Amino acid sequence: MTVYLVGSGPGDPGLMSVRALELIAAADVIVYDRLIPPGALDGARPEAELIYAGKEGGGPSMPQSEIDELLVSRGLSGGLVVRLKGGDPFVFGRGGEEAEALRAAGVPFEVVPGVTAGVAAPAYAGIPVTHRGAASAVAFVTGHEDPDKPGGSAVDWDALAAFPGTLVFYMGVRQLESIAAQLVASGRVASQPACVVERGTLPGQRVVVGTLETIAGVAASAGVRAPALVVVGEVVALGERLDWWSASRPLAGVSVAVTRARAQASGLAARLRELGASVVEAPAIRIVPLDGPAPDVSGYDLVCLTSPNGVETLFARLSARGLDARALAGARVAAIGPGTARALASHGVIADVVPERFVAEGLIEALAELPVSRALVARAASARDVLVDALRDRGAEVDVVALYETVASPLGEVELAAVAAADYVTFTSSSTVRFLLESLGGDGAGSGLRGRLVSIGPVTSATLREHGLSPDVEAARHDIDGLVEALIRDVTASRSR
Ligand code: SAH
Repeated sequence: MTVYLVGSGPGDPGLMSVRALELIAAADVIVYDRLIPPGALDGARPEAELIYAGKEGGGPSMPQSEIDELLVSRGLSGGLVVRLKGGDPFVFGRGGEEAEALRAAGVPFEVVPGVTAGVAAPAYAGIPVTHRGAASAVAFVTGHEDPDKPGGSAVDWDALAAFPGTLVFYMGVRQLESIAAQLVASGRVASQPACVVERGTLPGQRVVVGTLETIAGVAASAGVRAPALVVVGEVVALGERLDWWSASRPLAGVSVAVTRARAQASGLAARLRELGASVVEAPAIRIVPLDGPAPDVSGYDLVCLTSPNGVETLFARLSARGLDARALAGARVAAIGPGTARALASHGVIADVVPERFVAEGLIEALAELPVSRALVARAASARDVLVDALRDRGAEVDVVALYETVASPLGEVELAAVAAADYVTFTSSSTVRFLLESLGGDGAGSGLRGRLVSIGPVTSATLREHGLSPDVEAARHDIDGLVEALIRDVTASRSR
């Protein structure tokens, strides 16, 4: 069968082609590189054989000749083989060599071009590689070679210095100083704008700008690392005016750990990624629905729900008894916050009461005027009693039904190290605090957390303090939007400090 040499684009998963996704989904074997987009293999079949052929650090983990042999042997054995490479397979990807090996062995192949980093990374930095008046040509150059190599390098520096357009160097960060010096020595103007785009199109994208004369120093002091591209030419100056990327990404370059349960984390994680953050997913807790009969809701004049999980588990129990939203028809329904209200709405119930402050105390205030004689509080197994106590103090008869419990979800070494190193760690409930610290194996300084701690509200903040930590940021609105807002405010403030 055919071997497909497929480009996966520069890093942003949205820049993978339709054809690439189709082939990944159909592949029996995928031989992939290091620089493929995060999640690029998510669509592969569970039975597909995934073979890593990338490089860690400097050295190749699998020699090119072995990769060639592997592609030939898998190609001959008959399945659908995808060779997945970063960017475009024929731009500095050794795809040409692999195609030659396949042709020599008589294995049919097809090429699926990808968006190459040399165009995409500058574009995400607001730099058009060609521009009327500023550059009528663009050259893609390997920066891998040391220009001072004895015996001379394969790159014609005089020709490059004289090239009438933009120069884009791949693999050039390590050699940046000698590349810049060599261009100037060969006659390129030292004051010409130059920049380095690090991790272009990815959440951690960074751009450092200078001139041919200064760029090596600027990049070194910024600690720029591979993968990065060096762009030299007048078009670089356009980046300042045309930057569209960082404008909508106030969290660019910031790593944020999300500790809530995996089932609920995706919304928050997606939001943070859209804002440019790199997200460390570290679900410290797991929600386990408790078995039990559906409560008989007909006898209550008030039903209180204190979390979206409570809503989901309540409706699961009702539906197990063949009931639906109409079971709540006789009661007023109170939600602790807008997330809980949204969960209710998705089951066809519009909450009668949603407080201004999304904590139990806020709900108590909001219920102050409401006559209540029998109330049902549906909630987690180990929740605070303030709401129940307050309703009882008002003379109401209160039943509590525990619908689910929150349990620890132990984290692996890699996840824990990433949380400890994250710039921000978000806590969306007291249980995320307790169980993350349990996983980390210590309170206070013993937790090893280095980043700023963001709490969703006063209850979570108090739990942090109980564990010897102080919240650096507390959301003014105690829900996910409020938490994100507070985080953005803190990052923006720290940038102007
Ligand atoms: N075939 C790839 C290039 C492979 S060579 C393509 O077409 O894009 C690897 C080099 O590409 C890296 O050293 C770096 O210079 C560049 N590169 C790849 N991904 C990049 C990214 N997201 N941001 C900046 N440079 C990148």
